[in-house]
Amino acid sequence: MDAPQFKEFAKEMVDYVSNYLENIRDRRVLPTVEPGYLRPLIPETAPIKGDKWEDVLADVERVIMPGVTHWHSPRFHAYFPTANSYPAIVADILSGAIACIGFSWIASPACTELEVVMLDWLAQSHSSVERAGLLGGVKLRSLPVDDEYKLRGETVAEALKEDKAAGLIPFYLVATLGTTSSCAFDSLDEIGPICNEYGVWLHVDAAYAGSSFICPEFRYLMKGIERADSFNFNPHKWLLVNFDCSTMWLKEPAWLVDAFNVDPLYLKHDQQGAAPDYRHWQIPLGRRFRALKLWFVLRLYGVENLQAFIRKHIALAHYFEELVRSDDRFEIAAEVIMGLVCFRLKGENELSEQLLKRINANGVVHMVPSKINDIYFLRMAVCSRFTEREDIEITWKEVRANADLLLSEKKN
Ligand SMILES: *Cc1c(COP(=O)(O)O)cnc(C)c1O
Repeated sequence: MDAPQFKEFAKEMVDYVSNYLENIRDRRVLPTVEPGYLRPLIPETAPIKGDKWEDVLADVERVIMPGVTHWHSPRFHAYFPTANSYPAIVADILSGAIACIGFSWIASPACTELEVVMLDWLAQSHSSVERAGLLGGVKLRSLPVDDEYKLRGETVAEALKEDKAAGLIPFYLVATLGTTSSCAFDSLDEIGPICNEYGVWLHVDAAYAGSSFICPEFRYLMKGIERADSFNFNPHKWLLVNFDCSTMWLKEPAWLVDAFNVDPLYLKHDQQGAAPDYRHWQIPLGRRFRALKLWFVLRLYGVENLQAFIRKHIALAHYFEELVRSDDRFEIAAEVIMGLVCFRLKGENELSEQLLKRINANGVVHMVPSKINDIYFLRMAVCSRFTEREDIEITWKEVRANADLLLSEKKN
């Protein structure tokens, strides 16, 4: 069925990918298309006979690229980073070729075993937490934070007392190391003992900032982690492993395995119990061979280069912070700890809202806002591995030029 030339396409696509990435800075970050742009560009039905590869590849530029937001542009500063590297991309090609479904050890032993070892490689120093995944869906309560947007121990203690007095059974608390809004770090060392005392499962969400713990100088931010029942971070955000790769360690994996265990006869095998069968650690049955890309990235970059990458992003954020502080029309809205700078025009929220609208309309740089305690601010996240000081300067120029225009219009 496969035409003999199909395998040649793979090689051409690799060239297309490297051209795309190496020249990404020449593309506008945000597309200009309107909703519904795509349908008229392609036929109404699938082709009866296969199309030519050249036509498909040409349509990537004609149909797809005009509608792509270029997340790896050096001036993409929205949300948080999503990782991208050649080692991870090539590992994914191999994973795509092996294309196994790693629900049990025997379904592909390398898939399970590499995952176990990679999670150990990542965990370093923190033997108290072990691996897996979990989910919940019950009555939820958000707790107030302090002036630095951190969740504090006394707030947790009060909430637990109130819930118990109201006849509720509090059983799960999420503390965040590096919140999405402002990258605040909850006071884990205060919260942990209280959760342990009340028998509340403490989950630590370090989705973005967790990658920084590869650098010893940032580990103070995870002080108290030994009290946690589960810990998660996403190498697919900030550790150069392409989406998706989200890692989770559990203090007591058996609690999870017992909850999710499904064991029909056709999935049983002789080595059961000797190695994890990851289908018991998750809700879906199937599991991709993701450990390969983690392995390739850790081996090909090495810890030193990954540390350098994290440090560079944080230095670039501090550089932007410095530029913002040099202009007294602006203020920094939250302490800069990682690669995120929260900033705003002094005064009414509306000013900063209009500023961001103008910036995104130009499409040279892309940012998103957030709001905490009714204070609106812009978030400049250093995202791309291509971002250099010059890009940060371009971003700042773009911010300043739009502020100039906005403020002069307001005066008139
Ligand atoms: C990005 C982010 C998430 C979401 O992570 P996914 O695993 O991609 O769903 C959760 N928590 C925080 C703090 C994040 O920054």
